[in-house]
Amino acid sequence: MQDNKKKVFISDWELKRMAASGRKPVLPENAIVSPLSSDWLDYGGEGPRAGGGKEPGLRAQVADIGRRLHALGFVPATDGNISARLCGGTVLITPSGASKGGLSPDAVSKIDMAGNLVSGKTPSSEYLLHLCIYNARPDVAAVVHAHPPVATGLASAGVALDKPLTSEMVIGLGRVPLAAYATPGTDEVAGSIAGLVRDHNAILLANHGVVTYGPDLETAFQRMETVEQAAKITLVAESLGGGRLIPPDKVKKLEEIRRRLGF
Ligand SMILES: [Zn+2]
Repeated sequence: MQDNKKKVFISDWELKRMAASGRKPVLPENAIVSPLSSDWLDYGGEGPRAGGGKEPGLRAQVADIGRRLHALGFVPATDGNISARLCGGTVLITPSGASKGGLSPDAVSKIDMAGNLVSGKTPSSEYLLHLCIYNARPDVAAVVHAHPPVATGLASAGVALDKPLTSEMVIGLGRVPLAAYATPGTDEVAGSIAGLVRDHNAILLANHGVVTYGPDLETAFQRMETVEQAAKITLVAESLGGGRLIPPDKVKKLEEIRRRLGF
């Protein structure tokens, strides 16, 4: 029988918005979903809010993000760590002491939300940093921690990325605060960011590096790229006298765009 109902197109962006607002995505009968929506629904049906994700695909993505971070010079030697939340209260996380430049998907470890090892080798010593973010942000399903040199240099000089220097920085990142210094690999790190996680998607760690996060690995990775780009721009502007900031009324307009886009 011919279906005379008007078809409604549902994008992955709309599904993510539903999940971020706390609503479980319910599709109308006449919905047509985009290929990305279909993938997203496959990731557990409840989306990143519930930490959905198929383990083999996510393992491959963690390894791929590691290679890309390494190629950018953000995680030299064995620096940095990456994680992705799975359904059922477990987290895939890069193992301790491994280069992210050639990590195989099978080498990615798995822990539970208490930090206990479920499978694989000893997890990154920064696992508490990752768990702190997952606990505070149910909408987050991926965390990236790296040491991009310019952003880390600013973090070591006590400079936060909180000035409206470019429209992209305001829309894509919002203000990136600087967390107080904490000893890497200890619970001090989680303590230093605890008050900042809820209202930001990227945080500079004083004398250490950067952590970014989001509803999926690609978003968390791209936020790391954007932080380093913003750091380079800030460095140039500061070297030329501090730059001319976007006026407050124009910043408000950009923040409205940011809210509309759901960043
Ligand atoms: Zn680090």
